[in-house]
Amino acid sequence: MSSDPRPTRILTVDLEDWFHLLEYGGSSDPAQWENYPERIRRNTDLLLDTFAEAGVQATFFSLGWAARTYPDLLKKISDFGHEIGSHSDTHDLVHQSNPAAFRADLRRSIDAIEGAIGKKVTAYRAPGFSITRSSLWAFEILAECGITTDCSLFPSAHAHGGFGGLGQGPARIETRSGVLKELPVSTRELASRGIAFAGGGYFRLLPSFLVNHWSKRTPYLMTYFHPRDFDPEQPVLPGLSKRRRFRSYVGLAGARSKLVNLLSIGGFHSVSEAERRISWDNTPWLIL
Ligand SMILES: [Zn+2]
Repeated sequence: MSSDPRPTRILTVDLEDWFHLLEYGGSSDPAQWENYPERIRRNTDLLLDTFAEAGVQATFFSLGWAARTYPDLLKKISDFGHEIGSHSDTHDLVHQSNPAAFRADLRRSIDAIEGAIGKKVTAYRAPGFSITRSSLWAFEILAECGITTDCSLFPSAHAHGGFGGLGQGPARIETRSGVLKELPVSTRELASRGIAFAGGGYFRLLPSFLVNHWSKRTPYLMTYFHPRDFDPEQPVLPGLSKRRRFRSYVGLAGARSKLVNLLSIGGFHSVSEAERRISWDNTPWLIL
């Protein structure tokens, strides 16, 4: 997979606020977002401190909305030496969109982020890993808009997306605008389903020793965190199902020490650093 003998351990954060839960009626419309108290600044500061203490650089996938609303926060992340990619403009699921709307949303997010940090955006992650086999057109549009690395695929069934049949590790995708490099999220089979142990609810739920054990054993690790994952004081959104409520709020209090533990295994880096280390000629082509 890689000519570099060191494991590929990619540190990423989806930059959004605590109320950006997918397919939640109370916050699906961006016009509602200003009604919620802002917690993204303090939660992101905590991550920046944690990463600085560990001496690691990450990739933050930001909503275009966040770049327009908090340009100073994006500048600060960039000034800390982290890379910033796009996490869409307003957090819509790709497989529920269409090519024209997706292109407009992506361009708007890229413009907002580049305007805030003065650097080119070349990496993308879809909200909820929502590029599926029913929305393959998204790859063409990503490449056309200057994205060179996509991190949107979840190699198993998933609540908001999922790309069954995809292997673990980097892959290449042929598009009319050139080759798109794919860095999917890492999953692990547990009770015959793929779980993303290095991010989100499962990271907060699983014991630290197990997350670290699996993380050390795999040659390819793609994490995905959110500022809200480390905020036990965030309000609870009303009206969630019991299951969703559990998944969204489990383990918040212990998450920061788990992250510190995970980072202590070492070797974490950003998406663009991973892109440089991987020997792409040896990676499989994704057959669409
Ligand atoms: Zn998101």
